[in-house]
Amino acid sequence: AAGQRGPGGIALVGPASGAPSCPHGPALLFVKTSRGKEEGRRFYACSACRDRKDCNFFQWEDEKVSETRLAAREEYNRNHQPTFTHRQNVERYKNFVLLPLSKRRFCQECQQLLLPAEWEKHSDHQLLCDITTAQLKSPSQLLYPLENKKTNAQYLFADRSCQFLLNLLIDLGFRRVLSVGTPRLHEMIQSKASQEEDFRVRSLLLDIDFRYSQFYAEDEFCHYNMFNHYFFGGEAAYETCRKFLYEDNGERVIMVTDPPFGGLVEALASSFKKLMAMWKETGKEGESNKEMPMFWIFPYFFESRILDFFPSFSMMDYQVDYDNHALYKHGKTGRRQSPVRIFTNLTPSMIVLPVEEGYRFCTSCQRYVSFGNQHCEICNSCTSKDGRRWKHCVLCKKCVKPSWFHCSNCNCCALPNHSCENTDSGCFVCGRAGHKRSACPSLS
Ligand code: SAH
Ligand code: ZN
Ligand code: ZN
Ligand code: ZN
Ligand code: ZN
Repeated sequence: AAGQRGPGGIALVGPASGAPSCPHGPALLFVKTSRGKEEGRRFYACSACRDRKDCNFFQWEDEKVSETRLAAREEYNRNHQPTFTHRQNVERYKNFVLLPLSKRRFCQECQQLLLPAEWEKHSDHQLLCDITTAQLKSPSQLLYPLENKKTNAQYLFADRSCQFLLNLLIDLGFRRVLSVGTPRLHEMIQSKASQEEDFRVRSLLLDIDFRYSQFYAEDEFCHYNMFNHYFFGGEAAYETCRKFLYEDNGERVIMVTDPPFGGLVEALASSFKKLMAMWKETGKEGESNKEMPMFWIFPYFFESRILDFFPSFSMMDYQVDYDNHALYKHGKTGRRQSPVRIFTNLTPSMIVLPVEEGYRFCTSCQRYVSFGNQHCEICNSCTSKDGRRWKHCVLCKKCVKPSWFHCSNCNCCALPNHSCENTDSGCFVCGRAGHKRSACPSLS
């Protein structure tokens, strides 16, 4: 439902106490504004599913819901939970690995590891046979990515980006990674931990994709919704996470997250603040002013939105690459520029970017910048956001994209073919006034 915000005049109010629940936990409160009316009507909709087809939960804020409907809703929510519990899946996995290779089958249609007694039921489904231990250790390769843009938007890190992130975390001295929506990073850590004796890093995956519960124990994976900070496994799962965040033996924790890009930055920020608060509660005295270290991986055009919520964050130039994203992966020839960056509350100078990929250290800015990012003497900063060399506009008093020109009508820089219309509200994507989200120059 949240997909209707922006141009349609729907905005997120936020998580609300006493919100009704759908199968994905407490719904979020939105407001629908119509032109000419002062106050819009508020309603609850599913926090996780931005496509009505995936979850059609809807309720006006002021709607009276009868006892019968409430009961029906509870029943519906119960019936829309996964067939097996996480605990059952852990048991199934234990039995699965005892099977000889010839009896290890995975149903591609149901996305499920099968035990021999279940083969019959899946006889006319596509099966993968001879599932090796290596395959069980890379579930993100075995499962198909849930690419439906609106809900899961599962875009997996390219190997080199994942390797880069992991090495960076290790070099920074972190020993525990709270992987929020980063199954591939989690998997790389788990698999190294099981293969290399002196590998000390541990990871806990929080993700809404319950298929992963087939491969990980209850202290390795929590079924979690990052748009409303909801642990599907209740208090026990919550406790698992809290325990993981507790830093004993000086084992430092960092949170890494790569949420779907569909928006709802405020909902994500609210959940991440709650995770940060959980970390803080476990902290030692005298460190109460510290923040849990975090990498939030997100497109650069969300920079101002993220900084609104996390002023201590800065954006790194590193371009995160993906395997199954047509736009954001390396082409065969040279580099397709990815718009996805790392936002972090760590000191920028500590984030060392690979020199062999063209990144260099700017001593004035005290951070690594991309190859094309030139230090502007007037701004006194390396100003490029997208990796291309930006140019300074004296009238705007800032650097702008190379393809932009100063428009005297709009009194700002824009693409040459833009239409000079002023819209009253800011753009949903970049927050700037002068255009709507559909025409946002950041997206072009
Ligand atoms: N690049 C990452 C994957 C990012 S794709 C990697 O390679 O590890 C976004 C991830 O967020 C997916 O794993 C998806 O299942 C998860 N996700 C989507 N919506 C979510 C939600 N509401 N709560 C928690 N996780 C969610
Ligand atoms: Zn829902
Ligand atoms: Zn610089
Ligand atoms: Zn200008
Ligand atoms: Zn103009």
